[in-house]
Amino acid sequence: MRSVGIVGGGQLGRMLIQAGIDLDLHVKVLDAKPDSPCAGIAHEFVVGSVREAESIESFAEGVEILTIELEDVSVEGLLRAAAKGVEVYPAPQVLSVIQDKGRQRAWYASQGFPSPRFQLWMPGETVEIPFPLIQKAFQGGYDGKGVQRAPSAERLWQKPSLLEEEISIYKELSVIVARSKQGEVRAFPVVESVFHPEAHVVEFLRVPAEIPSHVEKEAREIAMQMAVSLNIIGLLAVEFFYSTSGQLYVNEAAPRPHNTGHITIKACWTSQFEQHWRALLGLPLGETRLHSYGALLNILGPVEKSGKVRFPKLTEWLEVPGVSVHLYGKRFSKPFRKLGHIIILAESPQELLQRVGQVRSNLSIEIVPFEMDETFS
Ligand code: ADP
Repeated sequence: MRSVGIVGGGQLGRMLIQAGIDLDLHVKVLDAKPDSPCAGIAHEFVVGSVREAESIESFAEGVEILTIELEDVSVEGLLRAAAKGVEVYPAPQVLSVIQDKGRQRAWYASQGFPSPRFQLWMPGETVEIPFPLIQKAFQGGYDGKGVQRAPSAERLWQKPSLLEEEISIYKELSVIVARSKQGEVRAFPVVESVFHPEAHVVEFLRVPAEIPSHVEKEAREIAMQMAVSLNIIGLLAVEFFYSTSGQLYVNEAAPRPHNTGHITIKACWTSQFEQHWRALLGLPLGETRLHSYGALLNILGPVEKSGKVRFPKLTEWLEVPGVSVHLYGKRFSKPFRKLGHIIILAESPQELLQRVGQVRSNLSIEIVPFEMDETFS
């Protein structure tokens, strides 16, 4: 039994555990929250901060391979683990580029990957990108937080940030790539994302993406080249903008499993989670082909209220043919929190849309108020 460690205990970790069990891995997980989605199902669950070098260093003791399920972790901690002989994927140096949107953007541009025009901006400097532009905090942003559309100079946040030309987006696409220790590289089919208009979290995905075949090919090739030039071992999820004028731009990348890749669990011959372990263990990578038309709906916490969560429509969801439900084990709901996802398979695009419509009409969940002695996490 090989011993692996995952830094972060959210739903991505939970699904990595599910896939790891099939390969008889011994999985240890680190997360600050004792009730995180991995608690109770990891072989070992350690409560500790993923942002503190010391906790990662001591967590990694006795672990053969260490990986992450979120980017916002202590790079110093990963470096210390690597110095003690633990195999760390992705390499900590890659993570330090990706943790900073400015460094990440500058790196892509330097490697010739198609990028929006950009500027690494300090307050007081002349703005070289025409308004309206997109302003992004260098660090800490996710799911659209730390990103704004600035219509004029007065509306800019006065903090160091990445400024980007506003792309006229036709579709947002993503490609999950795996690169193994042996150097084998495989890309999954392009996933098309439909975003929630307010929250900027993915609400609805589908495969295959409705795009011309040359765009599908180009996106997969760019993503594979990125994995090679970043020297990734494991997964790299690359997000793209496909513009109204037919151009592809790299938005950003994450060296880990990705929400848009969950659809591979049911729609592809191999899931992203199994592929990650295959890559890390130096095993042959699995077939990435689709065997069905697939869609994915995220089950998100409602905007109006927080509280304990119930899924009273589970029966209605599962009545639809081709549906599988994946609940993340989060006891509490917060606005837009990802609580689970529903995968829908079909044999034709028409059948898929009809089934998506059926599930969407019943997507509601129930929020039960907290009781006096309950704490919210
Ligand atoms: P996060 O990492 O928080 O998801 P992103 O950089 O992906 O942040 O930006 C969030 C959203 O903002 C994107 O999904 C896209 O809809 C929009 N966006 C980001 N950059 C641009 C851009 N250069 N042009 C147009 N829209 C953009």
